[in-house]
Amino acid sequence: MSALNETHDPGLRSWVESANDGRTDFPIQNLPLAIFRRKGSSEAWRGGVAIGDQVVDVAAAVQAGFFGGDALAAAQAAAEPTLNHLMSMGPKAASSLRKALSQALQAGSSRQAALQPCLVPQAEAEYSLPCRIGDYTDFYTSVHHATNIGKQFRPDNPLLPNYKWVPIGYHGRSSSIGVSGQAFHRPRGQVKPPDADAPSLKPSARLDIELEMGVLIGQPNALGAPIGIDDAESHVFGLVLFNDWSARDIQPWEYQPLGPFLSKNFASTVSPWVVTMEALAPFRVPFTRPADDPQPLPYLASSAHSAAGGLDIELEALIETPRMRAAGSPPARFTHTNYRHAYWSAAQMVAHHTVNGCNLQPGDLLGTGTLSGPTLDQACALIELTTGGKNPIALPNGETRTWLEDGDTIILRGWCERPGAARIGFGECRGTVLAARDA
Ligand code: MN
Repeated sequence: MSALNETHDPGLRSWVESANDGRTDFPIQNLPLAIFRRKGSSEAWRGGVAIGDQVVDVAAAVQAGFFGGDALAAAQAAAEPTLNHLMSMGPKAASSLRKALSQALQAGSSRQAALQPCLVPQAEAEYSLPCRIGDYTDFYTSVHHATNIGKQFRPDNPLLPNYKWVPIGYHGRSSSIGVSGQAFHRPRGQVKPPDADAPSLKPSARLDIELEMGVLIGQPNALGAPIGIDDAESHVFGLVLFNDWSARDIQPWEYQPLGPFLSKNFASTVSPWVVTMEALAPFRVPFTRPADDPQPLPYLASSAHSAAGGLDIELEALIETPRMRAAGSPPARFTHTNYRHAYWSAAQMVAHHTVNGCNLQPGDLLGTGTLSGPTLDQACALIELTTGGKNPIALPNGETRTWLEDGDTIILRGWCERPGAARIGFGECRGTVLAARDA
């Protein structure tokens, strides 16, 4: 796990004034990475680092000869059109880039004049996926989500007996994962209501969100070489926000016996900024379970993991309906939770995924699963918030929603704050539902 160092000092201020207001997601203590270019341009995609409302154009800084020493190789890798190469280099590389930028961006730095020409306003930037996502696996790490969903199918026995022993997951599909701003057509699929004799093909009428975090893998493991729990986070490059859009009417008909398929792979959205595990170091929390629960098998447990394996990350989801957009009203928050409520940690996901020898590669994405908290107002999918579509949620402008309607935009946000640390955030993960294509 990353240790605290001088880059986390809450007293640090930047000569980029917008980084110092205490409300920005991107103070000098964060320094997340994305792949960007100027909006509407045909410039090459390249890596950037967020500071306040600006992007440090890492490629431009490399070109200008700004970097030297340990940070140079990392900066050259970060200047490529995807972050995969940087991710593959392991946490020390990203850490040396972070340290160099932290020093250069500090108020009073003698390097301000050299770096200033390499800033691009975020308002003028557009983003690509941060990396080439080779494989995508989605987990099911919230026991509250698993219980809420289980209750709808099996009221007497909501949680299956394997849940507290094995981190449940399935292999998803990466080709349809897009970056924030993604708009996708409502999927069609086979739907069979319980009272129908036969299924029919129609646009999903039960389109839903899943508020998750995405764990992006950094350095790989060799095929056949499991990653131990205490080494697991050295294979994690960082975290993003992740919306695993789901079609709840396609899902129940197709999922047995092999799991989710077309109900999940029509679109999934990630936020552009990758917050590194090092940036998250001030927000570690203990990771334990109730004493009367089975304790994890030894390969999923350690004292270091129990002491600080969790992360205190506030998460929320907002909706902007077409009517809100037309009225100029702000989006409405409809749920709020925290990543610390997860039953299985990112390190446990990595240790479990590789225990059979499976190899993870730089840029692989592990979804946490829907991160619902302990109470129903902390549920992170409409299927829970509306109890399977029975109780619509009320929005502040008088509208209601059971499932998503055409034109709805969903916005995920995440941030960390605690006394004695600078507040950092993840930016936004935004996606919009378009009408189904004509059949
Ligand atoms: Mn999911």
